[in-house]
Amino acid sequence: MSNRNQSLTVVGAGLVGSLLSTVLAKLGFDVEIFERRVDMRKEAISAGRSINLAMSVRGLYSLQKLGIHEEVLKKAIAMPGRIIHPVSGSTSFQPYGKDESECIYSISRGDLNKTLMTIAESTKKVKIHFQEKLTSVDFKQRQLVFQNDKTKEETEVDYSQVFGTDGSSSLLRHALRDQFGHEESESLLSHGYKELHMPPGLNRQFQMEKHGLHIWPRGSYMLIALPNCDGSFTCTLFLFNEGPLSFESLTTPEKVEAFFKEQFPDIIPLIPDYIDQFFHNPTGQMVTVKTFPWNYRDDIVLLGDAAHAIVPFFGQGMNCGFEDVAVLWDMVERSNREDIPWKTIFDEFSVVRKPNGDAIADLAVDNFVEMRDRVADKKFLLAKEVEKLLEKRFPEEYVSRYRLVSFTRVPYRIALDAGKRQDKILSMLCEGISNAGDVDFEKAHELIKKEIAPLLKNMRTS
Ligand SMILES: Cc1cc2nc3c(=O)[nH]c(=O)nc-3n(C[C@H](O)[C@H](O)[C@H](O)COP(=O)(O)OP(=O)(O)OC[C@H]3O[C@@H](n4cnc5c(N)ncnc54)[C@H](O)[C@@H]3O)c2cc1C
Repeated sequence: MSNRNQSLTVVGAGLVGSLLSTVLAKLGFDVEIFERRVDMRKEAISAGRSINLAMSVRGLYSLQKLGIHEEVLKKAIAMPGRIIHPVSGSTSFQPYGKDESECIYSISRGDLNKTLMTIAESTKKVKIHFQEKLTSVDFKQRQLVFQNDKTKEETEVDYSQVFGTDGSSSLLRHALRDQFGHEESESLLSHGYKELHMPPGLNRQFQMEKHGLHIWPRGSYMLIALPNCDGSFTCTLFLFNEGPLSFESLTTPEKVEAFFKEQFPDIIPLIPDYIDQFFHNPTGQMVTVKTFPWNYRDDIVLLGDAAHAIVPFFGQGMNCGFEDVAVLWDMVERSNREDIPWKTIFDEFSVVRKPNGDAIADLAVDNFVEMRDRVADKKFLLAKEVEKLLEKRFPEEYVSRYRLVSFTRVPYRIALDAGKRQDKILSMLCEGISNAGDVDFEKAHELIKKEIAPLLKNMRTS
C-alpha cells in the first residue's frame, strides 16, 4: 500500500482542517497541521467569522462516520424551521422539512473547532503547530515556509502532500493561481454583516422561541438570529455596505436608533445596548470563491473555503467542507486498497467536487433573495404551500430544493438543477389559483414525472 506510512501536511486548523486531520489519522497517516492562530483552547480568541453555525445532514454525515456526531449534537439546538418577524403583526413559523425530525442545528463555531482539534490530537497521530503562518510555497523544492507569530522566525518544512484548508483567503490557492495560472474568481458581496448579541433573559431563559431560525425579512436587507446553548441568541444584520441605507450611511446613534425603531421594533427591548454593539462590533464581508483545478499534481489539494468559499445564506459553507472530507475519505480508503497514487486521487477529487462547489455557491446567493425578500411575499408563500402538498402526496418523487440541500446528500449540482425545475413547475401550478388546496394534482404528477423524477432516479432522498 504505497500511500501508507507517510507524513502529510495540513495548512489551517479551522473546522475543515481539524476534521480532515482526524480522518487522515484514522486512515493510518501521521499529520502535521500548521495554524497561524494561537490555540483557542488555551487563549480566548474569536473563533473567526460567525459565532454560531447551522449544521445539517452533510456536515453531520462526516461526524457520524467518525462516531463523534452525538458528542457534537449534545451542544446543539434543533431548528426545525424559520420564524418570520414582520415589521408589525405576529410571527409565523415556516417548517424546513417534512416533519420535526428534519431540522438543522445551531452550533457554536468555537466549541466545534476546539472539539475537533482535541479529537484530532487524541488520535496521537496529529500534531498541531500553532502560531505558524504559511508565507510561501516552493514547488520545486517541495517546501513550505512558515513564519512564527511570536518569534518571527521562518521555518522551511519539506512536504510530500499538502492539504490546503487555509480558508477563504487561502495563500495556497493564490500560489496555484500565481505560479500555474489556475482559474480563480473572488466576488465580494455588496452586503456586509454585523453580529449583535441578544443576552438571555431572567434565569437564563431564552427571550424568543429557541427552536427556530429567526428572520426579519426587509426586502434588500435582513436580520437573522440563531440560538446559543447559554440562553442567548446571535443576531446578524445583513445590509448593503454602501448606499442610502447601508453600514456606511448609519453613522450616528440617532440614525441607528431610528432605523431599528422603524424596522426591528421587537428587537429593541431584547438587546438594550444594540446601539453600542452596532458601533463596537466589526462589519464582516462575504465572498464567493471559485477556482479550478483544486489540486496541483500530487503536491497540493484544496478543501473547504480554500476551494469554495460561499455566502452563508444556505448555511452550507462548513457543511460543504465536511462533505469534501467525506468524499476524499472514500477516495483515499479505496486508494489504500487498490494502490492508487495521490495524483489520481487529487485529480479525481477536484473534478468530482468542483461542479458541486460551484452549485452550492449559486444556491447560496439565490437563498439570500429568498430569505430577505421572498419569505414575506404572498406568491412565494402560496408556492411553498403547494410544494408542501406535493411533498406529502408524492413523497418518493418530490423533494424540495431546501430539503435536497439540507437533509440529503444528493449532489449539490443536482439539487440546483432540481430546484430550477421545481420553480418552473410551481409557477405553472400556481397560475390562476389563490388557495393551495385547488392545485391540479394530476397535472402536478405529470410534471414531476417528466421534470424531477429522471434527475433524482437512483438518489437517496430520505
Ligand atoms: C457570517 C457567516 C456565517 C456562516 N454560517 C454558516 C452556517 O450556518 N453553516 C455553515 O455550514 N457554514 C457557515 N459559514 C461558512 C463557514 O464559516 C465556513 O465554510 C467554514 O468556516 C470553512 O471552514 P474552513 O476550515 O475551510 O475555513 P476556516 O474556518 O476559515 O479555517 C481556516 C483556518 O486556516 C487558518 N489559516 C489561514 N491562513 C493561514 C496561513 N497562511 N497559515 C496557517 N494557517 C492559516 C485560519 O487561521 C483558520 O484557522 C458561515 C460563514 C460566515 C462568514
